[in-house]
Amino acid sequence: MSTQNPIFIPGPTNIPEELRRAVDYPSIDHRSPAFAEMYKPALDGVRRILQSKEAEVILFPATGTGAWEAAVTNTLSPGDKVLAARYGMFSHRWIDLCRRHGLDVEVIETPWGEGAPADAFEQALKADTRHTIKAVLVCHNETATGVVSDIASVRRALDAARHPALLYVDGVSSIASMDFRMDEWGVDIAITGSQKGFMLPAGLAILGISPRALDAVASAKCPRCFFDFRDMLKTRATGGFPYTPPVNLIRGLSVSIGMLEAEGLPRVFDRHRRIAEGVRKAVAAWGLHLCAKRPALYSDTVSAVLVPDGFDATRIVTHAAEKYGVAFGVGLGEVAGKLFRIGHLGSMTDVMALSGIATAEMVMADLGLPVALGSGVAAAQEYYRASAGREKTAASRAAA
Ligand SMILES: *Cc1c(COP(=O)(O)O)cnc(C)c1O
Repeated sequence: MSTQNPIFIPGPTNIPEELRRAVDYPSIDHRSPAFAEMYKPALDGVRRILQSKEAEVILFPATGTGAWEAAVTNTLSPGDKVLAARYGMFSHRWIDLCRRHGLDVEVIETPWGEGAPADAFEQALKADTRHTIKAVLVCHNETATGVVSDIASVRRALDAARHPALLYVDGVSSIASMDFRMDEWGVDIAITGSQKGFMLPAGLAILGISPRALDAVASAKCPRCFFDFRDMLKTRATGGFPYTPPVNLIRGLSVSIGMLEAEGLPRVFDRHRRIAEGVRKAVAAWGLHLCAKRPALYSDTVSAVLVPDGFDATRIVTHAAEKYGVAFGVGLGEVAGKLFRIGHLGSMTDVMALSGIATAEMVMADLGLPVALGSGVAAAQEYYRASAGREKTAASRAAA
């Protein structure tokens, strides 16, 4: 596969040159003050990206999956009940992880293509008069279906039921790309990783933890060692880490946050919205549909495109990789073969997106799907022409 082409999978994402240079750094003694100087700005920066004033930020050498595990094992005990909805492969995997840790997961089965069912959550919480549910788990952006959920509505469900359960949100494919308001939404644990919105290589599990969630740590009985928040916070008090920290990624994280903040978070979110909207115009021009069932559910970081019945969508991904050296995402789980995914998050511009749309058209034409070359590109071009300049593009930023 050509390394010249951008990738269009929803993580890992394209790594900008600036971040590749930032992680290319000689080893340092992580017990020296040099590490502490690198560490604190990264922690403070993540808190700002989460739009939180009070979250404790914790970084582990792991990925988003490790952050799921750290969140539940540090705050819950085997047998504890948690409430979750399954509407895609990522919400499914988090549920599975909880069960393997001996948690009792009440699952609300939700059609894939829908988002977090706030009304059903509210009913379940109201029915739980003895408050046995300790936490509600929500996947903010279901990367498998390209569906974004309304976390504020889940918070309202908890409040309407006057239920004290903690709210844990997987923001792995939303944080740093789409609006995520930890404090305003009353999120108790926010979860992400380094290789999506932060545009870095995989290797950091990133968590924001509310004071209420931290209070739950002392009584939680799930076994944990590597991921123990207590060890992390104890060693941090002296600028350290409980084991060898992934120094290069932590350094990269600070630089990534600097890039995001130089652009400005509202502009970052707007850029993702614009790019996604162009992709959606292209999908409509192809006569195809998204897996997400309604515009309010459309993700600005990944579009999951349904293919005509009887056609195996995986062929699109394989052919794009083999013939054109371009990566798209396959369908996962229940939607395997039914859709392919265009990831458009992180280091992405409308010009890059046009190349992905053009490639998808070539692939679909090669495979005999009734897609006219240029149709989706033209629809996206019209949208990008009309909306460009709403925010500074990456190119003009670099020139400034
Ligand atoms: C990518 C992703 C994960 C898993 O993250 P890993 O870093 O691969 O462990 C979890 N949740 C969502 C929504 C994701 O997109």
